Amino acid sequence: MSNAPPTFDPRAMRAIPTDIMSKYDVPGPRYTSYPTAPVWGDFDEDDFERALSKSAASARPLSVYIHLPFCESLCVYCGCNVVITKRRELAAQYVERLIAEMERTARFANAADRQTVQVAWGGGTPTYLAPDQIERLMATIARLFPLAANAEVGIEVDPRVTTREHVAAIARAGFNRISMGVQDFDPKVQEEIHRVQPYEMTRDLIAWCREDGIESINVDLVYGLPLQTADSFDETIALVKTLSPDRISAFSYAHVPWLKPAQTKFRDETIPRGAEKFEIFTRLVEQMTAEGYEFIGMDHFAKPDNELAQALKTGALWRNFQGFTTKAGTDLVGMGVTSIASFDDAFAQSVKELPAWSERIDAGRHAVTRGMWLTDDDRIRRDVIQDIMCRYRFDADVVSARAGIDAREYFADVSAGFPALEADGMLVTDGRGGFELTSRGRLFVRNVCMPFDAHLGSPSDKPVCSRTI
Ligand code: SF4
Repeated sequence: MSNAPPTFDPRAMRAIPTDIMSKYDVPGPRYTSYPTAPVWGDFDEDDFERALSKSAASARPLSVYIHLPFCESLCVYCGCNVVITKRRELAAQYVERLIAEMERTARFANAADRQTVQVAWGGGTPTYLAPDQIERLMATIARLFPLAANAEVGIEVDPRVTTREHVAAIARAGFNRISMGVQDFDPKVQEEIHRVQPYEMTRDLIAWCREDGIESINVDLVYGLPLQTADSFDETIALVKTLSPDRISAFSYAHVPWLKPAQTKFRDETIPRGAEKFEIFTRLVEQMTAEGYEFIGMDHFAKPDNELAQALKTGALWRNFQGFTTKAGTDLVGMGVTSIASFDDAFAQSVKELPAWSERIDAGRHAVTRGMWLTDDDRIRRDVIQDIMCRYRFDADVVSARAGIDAREYFADVSAGFPALEADGMLVTDGRGGFELTSRGRLFVRNVCMPFDAHLGSPSDKPVCSRTI
């Protein structure tokens, strides 16, 4: 069997009966990890040191994530962990602490003798830092975490605060991937979400990135925002096409005011939901695929020559906390407030509050506070969920050989539900205990993964998931 997943047919989006749509529009995890973060528990510094030393012994390649939480103002829809401030001295102190944390983590992970294949800066707004701070921080990363020749080095930027000098510093520092938030070009929506960003600002930023040779440019969109309509979003899509980004991420707006109180500002009746929201997404998929982009999965599009599209074809696609990636099989170490580390058998997350994180770093301690050790069962299910999310299939023979189990017997309770999913047009069973997703199933891939999730609905699984549509 080839590694390439079945080809996606966008016409599947217009052929979904209403009853199927309502049945599958339920809260569900995005599976950027398994087990998902809400089910993690206490994880202390001893656990973390043990995880780092096991990682060092494995010598697996490293992936490094740096979290920069600062933003100048709050976008009302935002679901990230942010610190809103105009006090630049806080960022300067933060950079010093990040360097201290990196030195400590690199030592425990024996990073000097390993290859780092991926670096990602997220936030918050990494370009809240001044250009010289960005260059210094990146030089420190490269000193402590020797980079592979083909390393992906990416940064998220906010066009509203990113200057020509920032882009020059980003290119000099060795970043080869840049991702920028756009969300929606409609001025009414921008006002409502408190993120005013004229088209020209984004256009100029992309031109600077291309002038400076940054290889891959990603634009983030959000669908389901208040005041958005399918017609108004068509205009955003038309403008995005003129920018010709290499990749597009289109996230579904998660309305979770019980977690993000700023979202209570949105009037309920202005938020598109259900069929209306799905229509916005359908038109996006139709128009981007007609434009020649590959629909990678869930919420990503890439030009056919982009490595993400290539990885989809060869079966090398992987999913991690940053979304889809081509760098499978790495251990991830995270630096900064709220950052996550991910090893073959453990997850760890740092404290979320800036004062508590600063205190830990100043005391020469690790900042981890929660996480979990994965059982053998967790690892088997994690790999199956990766197969479904990235390769759109469950192959019982492959899973049996990889995990040393009889996958048909192991997942007998889950496979009892396959006929119902098949009847709803989500998948086609292969007669050997496995299945391939249909184009419809790729749209509802989270729903297909959920029966494999042994933690779903457990007492520690709090209701924090967004809906699958
Ligand atoms: S700039 Fe990004 S991280 Fe900061 S508040 Fe806006 S959406 Fe959130």
